Amino acid sequence: MTSAVIDVAIVGAGPVGTLLAAELARLGVAAAVIEQRAEAGGGSRAVGIHATALAAMEASGATDRLLADALRVRVGEARRRGRTLGEVRFDRLHARHPFVATLPQ
Ligand SMILES: Cc1cc2nc3c(=O)[nH]c(=O)nc-3n(C[C@H](O)[C@H](O)[C@H](O)COP(=O)(O)OP(=O)(O)OC[C@H]3O[C@@H](n4cnc5c(N)ncnc54)[C@H](O)[C@@H]3O)c2cc1C
Repeated sequence: MTSAVIDVAIVGAGPVGTLLAAELARLGVAAAVIEQRAEAGGGSRAVGIHATALAAMEASGATDRLLADALRVRVGEARRRGRTLGEVRFDRLHARHPFVATLPQ
């Protein structure tokens, strides 16, 4: 059995856990991710990557790489039988990236 010294244990390898692990690694902090699922997969729920997530990934350079291929959704609309029921304006966000980024999954 081998042992390693870690500073941080992260429970869960979802988007938050993996981003935290990547950021800690970038900053030189030893972290271990503990995930209950044996395998990755099961379908993506990352339809849209929001402004706060884009900001959180910026220091690592991941945001620039992601935006190189992403579609930038500035307005979301709910429609029924040709009638617009409502809209969400991402372009009014006071954020560096005022849109939702989507990529082929
Ligand atoms: C249909 C659908 C579509 C969505 N679309 C979007 C979208 O487009 N954009 C968006 O930003 N969000 C979307 N979401 C929300 C998105 O799922 C959450 O924002 C995101 O998954 C939260 O990440 P998380 O890491 O906090 O949690 P999770 O993704 O839930 O990850 C938690 C992880 O921890 C593991 N875990 C839990 N308990 C333990 C334990 N005790 N020990 C070990 N491992 C454990 C789980 O197995 C899991 O892998 C969507 C959700 C759904 C249901």
